[in-house]
Amino acid sequence: MSKHQFQTEVNQLLDLMIHSLYSNKEIFLRELISNSSDALDKLNYLTLTDDNFKKLKYEPRINIVIDKKTKTITLSDNGIGMSESDLIENLGTIAKSGTKSFIKNLSGDQKKDSNMIGQFGVGFYSAFMVASKIEVTSKKANEDKAFTWISEGTGEYEIIKTAKETHGTSIKLYLKDEEVEFVEYYRVESIIKKYSNHISFGIWMDKEETTPAVTDDKGKETKKAKTKIVNTQVNKASALWRMNKNEIKENEYKDFYKQISHDNTDPIFWTHTKAEGTLEYSTLFYIPSTAPMDLFRMDYQPGVKLYVKRVFITDDEKELLPVYLRFVKGIIDAEDLPLNISREILQENRILSAIKKSSVKKILSELKKLQTKSRKKYLEFYKTFGRVLKEGLYGDFENKDTLLDLVMFKSSKRDDFITLKEYKEKMKDDQKSIYYITGEKESILRNSPLIEQFKTQDIEVLLLDEDIDSIIMPMVTKYDETPIKPVNNSDINEEIQDNKEENKETKEKYQGLLVKMKEILKDDAKDVKISSRLNDSPSVLIYDKNDPDFQMQQMLKQMGQENLPTVKPILEINPEHEIFKKLLTKSDDLLLNDISFLLMDQARLSEGIKIEDITQFSKRLNKIIAKAL
Ligand code: ADP
Repeated sequence: MSKHQFQTEVNQLLDLMIHSLYSNKEIFLRELISNSSDALDKLNYLTLTDDNFKKLKYEPRINIVIDKKTKTITLSDNGIGMSESDLIENLGTIAKSGTKSFIKNLSGDQKKDSNMIGQFGVGFYSAFMVASKIEVTSKKANEDKAFTWISEGTGEYEIIKTAKETHGTSIKLYLKDEEVEFVEYYRVESIIKKYSNHISFGIWMDKEETTPAVTDDKGKETKKAKTKIVNTQVNKASALWRMNKNEIKENEYKDFYKQISHDNTDPIFWTHTKAEGTLEYSTLFYIPSTAPMDLFRMDYQPGVKLYVKRVFITDDEKELLPVYLRFVKGIIDAEDLPLNISREILQENRILSAIKKSSVKKILSELKKLQTKSRKKYLEFYKTFGRVLKEGLYGDFENKDTLLDLVMFKSSKRDDFITLKEYKEKMKDDQKSIYYITGEKESILRNSPLIEQFKTQDIEVLLLDEDIDSIIMPMVTKYDETPIKPVNNSDINEEIQDNKEENKETKEKYQGLLVKMKEILKDDAKDVKISSRLNDSPSVLIYDKNDPDFQMQQMLKQMGQENLPTVKPILEINPEHEIFKKLLTKSDDLLLNDISFLLMDQARLSEGIKIEDITQFSKRLNKIIAKAL
């Protein structure tokens, strides 16, 4: 026997689960069945593809035995099983990416919030909601030794060597006194039917069947009532995705989602396709309503499982759908793939890429339908997954137009979201482009000097405040033939200039001052120019037509491009501002020096950019204040 401690997070998870999921405790059965189903899937794959397993008899089954006397419920499968080290690794630690750090970072208040925990698979440990002790006996397929893992869910577990005839896993729950409902046949049957009716494997239970007594016409009993035990299959085991759509009820779709995703919340919608003809396959895709914890991690768990003719192949293939659809959960079941297709060549498989291609089209078109049908629901989706969907604009050129329609934008003219189509419909007659501004914070963008002139001219500007925007927007150069341009680009000066003649005059007037400022700021600014985009602010930073702007430079650095040369912005000044009118009349070069730097810093601040030399900034500011007094 050996004693082990749970990983710290396991204790926290157990605690969290008992407090937040208790009202929905019956799901423990769904979670254990799901594990058994996975274990059977894994073994099936091996028996078909690995010579060492081909001799093994594969007769998949999940058995559930309830015992009123001992108050136990035991769930067994003849799947892949677990070795001693598997038991330690799988049942003593939390291996799933994201989950561990999530639990570590939970605050006290959040711990009571059951929605939070709904975000990740609760799995095996949920059984401790109803059990005071759990014994897991397992024998790995093709191994001799069997082990039993025992725990009361309080900090530690032990593992003992044991004997077990067949491979697979058997999980015995000693129910807490108040949870004895789970030894009632009908209670257990109804839970199985609810959640696990359409998993691929049969779930079997002993059922008491009573034949009533028979009496003759004089009322004499000729045959006694008889009770016998019949082993029956409780669920349909129909592989839901293989059924016809019209045979499936809405609730069955939802429950199946919960079974495969471990998510306790209903999905936003699903799309079920059965393709016949040259390419035969079934797909069932779900759009969840909550984001999984690992959504933004490189090592995220993909949500789509691949089957071939109902045989599970893998749930670990990230290329089944494009990365930007990684929130989609579901199943692809292909008819014409070889079962032993190696995972290495999956990605290059012609059939799979054809399925992938039409799946993406299908999912995107369903999203588009939702967007037109229910804006509210679509926005719920968009707020959760829009950031991910946008990544598609970066790589999926084939679906770029559809994706552009699906992206929602904040705008300078309104508080709610707008699509590019709606923007275009409301464009002014003489407006040449669609304009946008990127930055970190919506409030800063709304008040940015960069859009002052747009506001004056009543031109709408899209506000993009997500980190990814500064990378993807430059890739999106037009929508439906209309150019899309950032407001901080030197290229658009012409488009928003009111009066060209007047501008020429002003330029001449300020020529001397501009030259001096340019010399002063030569290390910080590429150029100093007269601006046509400002009303109230004295200065603003813009970028040359082909230069990456500040946000983009930051993003590139974050992505590991350390040695990028710093690209200097152009400082534009507002000739109508009092500061410059007065500066024209002064000839104090020291003063101009300080003011130039201050204007530069101020422009940075108003665009949400950090000032690097804050000491210098304060010194200069204080000097000017002292002078003004
Ligand atoms: P999850 O199933 O979401 O990975 P669990 O905590 O439910 O998380 O299970 C942890 C791991 O334990 C599983 O990933 C699997 O490797 C293993 N496991 C659980 N139940 C079984 C089983 N019946 N047969 C084989 N392995 C199992």
